[in-house]
Amino acid sequence: MSEISKNGEKETKPQYQVSRRGFLKTGAAAAAMSVMGAIAAPSKVANAAIHDLSYTPAKGQWSKLRPVNHYGGATVHFVENNDQWLGTSKIVGPIKKSGEFNSGFGLATRGLLGDKARFGLLSQGERSPLTGGIMQALGMISGDETVMGTPRKDKLPIPDPEQMSQHIKDLAYYLRADDVGIGQMPSYGYYGTKCMPPITVIAAGILPPQTPIAEVPNTEPEYPYVITVAVEQHLETYLASTGYDGISVSQSMRCYHATANIAVIMARYIRNIGYNARAHHFGNYGLAVPPALIASGLGEHTRTGDCVAHPRMGFRNKCAAVTTDLPLVADKPIDFGMLDFCRVCMKCAVECPSKAISPDKEPVEMNGYLRWNSDYKKCAVFRCSNEEGVNCGRCMKVCPWNSKENSWFHEAGLWIGSKGETASTMLKAIDDMFGYGTEIVDKYKWWLEWPELHKINIPS
Ligand code: SF4
Ligand code: SF4
Repeated sequence: MSEISKNGEKETKPQYQVSRRGFLKTGAAAAAMSVMGAIAAPSKVANAAIHDLSYTPAKGQWSKLRPVNHYGGATVHFVENNDQWLGTSKIVGPIKKSGEFNSGFGLATRGLLGDKARFGLLSQGERSPLTGGIMQALGMISGDETVMGTPRKDKLPIPDPEQMSQHIKDLAYYLRADDVGIGQMPSYGYYGTKCMPPITVIAAGILPPQTPIAEVPNTEPEYPYVITVAVEQHLETYLASTGYDGISVSQSMRCYHATANIAVIMARYIRNIGYNARAHHFGNYGLAVPPALIASGLGEHTRTGDCVAHPRMGFRNKCAAVTTDLPLVADKPIDFGMLDFCRVCMKCAVECPSKAISPDKEPVEMNGYLRWNSDYKKCAVFRCSNEEGVNCGRCMKVCPWNSKENSWFHEAGLWIGSKGETASTMLKAIDDMFGYGTEIVDKYKWWLEWPELHKINIPS
């Protein structure tokens, strides 16, 4: 890596960096695009596409905002929603319901990943002053009395399910979601057990670290629909960050808080018009978010395990959900070639500081479906024990799907990336050539850090 100075701005560039502007000027980009355009989309081994993805509002619909998903330049198809497939991930056996008790953060909170991980996690709000502020605000909307409740007795008149779905999406955009989808919630996506008290209440410092945590059966109702909302993590901030420095945890928590706000307001609104609704967010989950996202057409699995990528944002976003019995029309899961891209791209596996991400070529069976197997314990240990910063989002920073600026070139890049394995190999090569993902763009650094706070104090 070498440092260059340009107009007083410093950028860290890889040794063999090609100038993006020069590349575009020579027309090489255009040539590459036309070559890639000639590469036919492969015949999909996964769930067959059934039609193009362009939402056409029903005649007379009254949507006023932005009811169409913004997928960037990616080529996106709907896929069938059934018990053979979870989006583009093949179901090969029974899927057991999960819970937070034995998740990475669950194990860390309970002290089963060592004292350093435990106290590192429990002191995130002190080690990152900005995160402490966000977590406090998040804690205030995390109680059961906020995320769930009884709907009004007499249901208000509402439009037909299609119009109502449109309205719910408008509401999500009005509340500042970056994307929204509606899915048929698979029963296996609901948690089988819950933690009492919730893990996050302890991790947020609302209860003392020694508070005992019990695992209890989840007896909450399973409503048929799930509304998922995503809020994008700030691109320029990631471009200026290593992914595991002092801003890392705040990047996540800001979006957890933003999506929690949307979900809580939306669930209360639905209850206020007479239907059941439960908000699920970082401070209080009753479901696993990845299957809800896939069911509602907001993404596909990636090499990073249960993490789901969006066609435009990749997994540089955070999500929350609302489950409900409000009559809605579910969207379908989508296919934009993420699995093909991950097959040839190992960037997250190479760059992960804890080597938690699988370098395997193909997905393997995990709890009844095929996906790459990331080592969630290794990841949790690194994230909770990291003293170079607080937490980690290195995989998010380096993923070619996540690290794009908004320009025609990057939209074209996403289009190429969604055209199958051969095209993905070319895009990955271009991405590496430009040094995307791994570069540090100092001119975007705006935040303050106090490295002396990053050290983890273990009480005697
Ligand atoms: S968050 Fe960090 S440690 Fe965890 S998988 Fe991503 S890069 Fe690896
Ligand atoms: S870095 Fe590459 S392999 Fe990892 S999730 Fe992103 S596209 Fe997939």
